[in-house]
Amino acid sequence: MKIIKLLISDEVKEKLENRQVLVENIQKVISRAEKTGDSLINRETGHLLVCNREINVTFWVEYGVQEDGYVIYNAYSHRMEIGLNSDAKTTLEGAKPESPWHCAKCDRPLKPEPIVVYYLRYDFPVNMLKCQACDFVLVTEELALGKMAEVEQLLEDK
Ligand SMILES: [Zn+2]
Repeated sequence: MKIIKLLISDEVKEKLENRQVLVENIQKVISRAEKTGDSLINRETGHLLVCNREINVTFWVEYGVQEDGYVIYNAYSHRMEIGLNSDAKTTLEGAKPESPWHCAKCDRPLKPEPIVVYYLRYDFPVNMLKCQACDFVLVTEELALGKMAEVEQLLEDK
């Protein structure tokens, strides 16, 4: 495997520790994204956002590429999985049409769509941004650390 050198500020390091995201998780995410080309690009900052599912956790990493390595700006994870499009008209927050994130692979803006997310026997529909060409779905930090984390916690406490 290609060596992936990460540049992580102390501030981000602390965030990763609190969220139990390991350096090796991040390396796997970036390594997979470089192979598949599945990534989102923020048109304002130029940052890339990519994900990888390891067993039952999906890790998301926001990063930038520099000559001496990969600068990590953010990372988060969730256990809930992305399901099918939902017929339900959801009013839940979670997708803003004016999002700066575009599909880097297809060079297209993302469009909000109601999508079902699920975990164990629980599921709910939520508006999420999706690339209409390759079906890449953006799980925002807000959703992962908000509603998704709530549901995951609820089910794990049982
Ligand atoms: Zn796409």
